[in-house]
Amino acid sequence: MSNRTFTMIKPDATSKGYTGAILDQIIKSGFSIKALKWTKLTPAQAGEFYAVHKERPFYGELVDYMSSGPIIAAILEKDNAVADFRKLIGATNPAQAEEGTIRKKFATSIAENAVHGSDSDENAMIEGDFFFSKLERF
Ligand code: GDP
Repeated sequence: MSNRTFTMIKPDATSKGYTGAILDQIIKSGFSIKALKWTKLTPAQAGEFYAVHKERPFYGELVDYMSSGPIIAAILEKDNAVADFRKLIGATNPAQAEEGTIRKKFATSIAENAVHGSDSDENAMIEGDFFFSKLERF
């Protein structure tokens, strides 16, 4: 059972002013913040972060979107963090996300879906390391 995951609040959500409400829902759902950053990805950095999706038809759109504005990056801690966080954010497509999930409440479309959540313990570690040094996590 993992106890850490990695998240981003994506550019559509930060630009609409949802940052505070999303962080509040995350904390009230039992996750504690171990690292937090307000930043903006360059297209090259977004391309590297999502390299696993390079062959997908939407890769170019995804890179443009994720480098289009500021994001929040965070490492979160909770028992069963990866699975519980995926449940809290809901399905990739907000139209299919359960009522009350972050994507249901704050996402616009399958592309602009408000938040990222790691899909495995291994990726949570890789993604956290992408954004944070040892000095930036507590
Ligand atoms: P996730 O793990 O739920 O984030 O979903 P995926 O790993 O399948 O996709 C990664 C991200 O790519 C999603 O969160 C969306 O931002 C984006 N994405 C997924 N499907 C599509 C699509 O059909 N079109 C576009 N433009 N973006 C997509």
